[in-house]
Amino acid sequence: MYAVLKICSKHAQCPKCKHVSSRQHSQYARKVDDLPVSGHSVHITVLLHKWFCGNKDCKIKVFTERLNWLSPSARKTNRLENLIRHVGFTNNCLAAEKICRKMRISISHDAILYRIKKEEPVKPRECPFRGH
Ligand SMILES: [Zn+2]
Repeated sequence: MYAVLKICSKHAQCPKCKHVSSRQHSQYARKVDDLPVSGHSVHITVLLHKWFCGNKDCKIKVFTERLNWLSPSARKTNRLENLIRHVGFTNNCLAAEKICRKMRISISHDAILYRIKKEEPVKPRECPFRGH
């Protein structure tokens, strides 16, 4: 399934200095994957804006719009990333790749392993299996 999502924000916040800008620079497209629907993979073309930062003291002159459901420069939505990490943590990476493929999520076992290695380890005090 393919979809185009146009973000029509009237303003955006600079990620560096938090200045709210209403001056658009340009528009660009990002292709991202989302959770599968009814056994079909979902590909979304997100049309976003770049904005001028109006703060003269800010080193960033142009910034890209941030979305709470899509990390900067990510190619998968946050909820799809969470599902992949969950499948990766509850299986070995080869099995996780097969499960993802069965769910129509295109990802290699190496990419799943990369995500697991990148994850912060659970601190001992927060571990549910300690202290009982
Ligand atoms: Zn700024």
